[in-house]
Amino acid sequence: MAMTSPDVYKLGFVGAGNMAESIARGVAKSGVLPPAAIRTSHHRADRQSVFQSFGVVILESSGQVVADSDIVILSVKPQVAKKVLLEMKPFFTDHKLLVSIAAGIKMKDLQEWSGHGRIIRVMPNTPSAVGEAASVMCMGDMATKKDEERVASLFKAIGKIWMADEKYFDAVTGLSGSGPAYVYIAIEALADGGVAAGLPRDLALALATQTVLGAAAMVNKSGKHPGELKDAVTSPAGTTIAGIHELEKGGLRGSLMSAVIAAAKRCRELS
Ligand code: NAD
Repeated sequence: MAMTSPDVYKLGFVGAGNMAESIARGVAKSGVLPPAAIRTSHHRADRQSVFQSFGVVILESSGQVVADSDIVILSVKPQVAKKVLLEMKPFFTDHKLLVSIAAGIKMKDLQEWSGHGRIIRVMPNTPSAVGEAASVMCMGDMATKKDEERVASLFKAIGKIWMADEKYFDAVTGLSGSGPAYVYIAIEALADGGVAAGLPRDLALALATQTVLGAAAMVNKSGKHPGELKDAVTSPAGTTIAGIHELEKGGLRGSLMSAVIAAAKRCRELS
């Protein structure tokens, strides 16, 4: 039987923080790459130990990470991205792919600072830590089909990924980037409502959390429009429509829309 050989290449992280850790763990755990193919560097011993604990190679400097990687994920905070890329510039040879996850840093700036054209920009979100990220990617002019496939498979190891034009990235940040926080508030508020209606706190929080998870899974797996699912659970003069009436009076839909628009606007201001 013909066997396809695994696509093994070297993956480096410049910036060994939380997001780098989530991606590296997901990639190693899913078997997309063996941990020995992943490398990073950090001045703090505790961050080195975290990555070493699951087999990632620790190098002396970010320069060495770039020099010794085929794909480099820029995972420092956006404020230091320019300084770091200018320092890394000499190490970016043509065959390397730069992947930036730095929020709000545009492709044209990444190109200018790194002196490199082979770039993919990705916007992941924090549920990457539990394998449920919503990520969006856009391609630089010099990135290849193979680059696209490799990056898609890396980010599928931590959730789902979609392709979108860079012009959508501020809106993506406002929706999926900031969205987990909106939903945390919704879960907390549902639990508070449960407590107000007489439930013990632990049970209220557990039910609120599972209800949000279940509703999201229903939308995802049924393929039905959320409005159709809502209509299916609202019987005439029933309990759910009474609850929905309160949500509509409170302007829940408008609040959520405004939250996404405000976060997207703020992202534009910051970038
Ligand atoms: P973090 O602060 O946990 O990680 C950044 C790491 O970079 C830190 O460990 C820091 O010590 C290191 N660092 C700082 N200066 C450095 C330098 N000069 N050279 C090498 N390393 C350096 O941040 P994070 O939450 O992991 O975010 C990383 C990037 O991911 C950011 O650009 C952020 O915009 C982006 N991002 C984050 C999220 C999110 O939800 N957290 C979502 C999408 C994108």
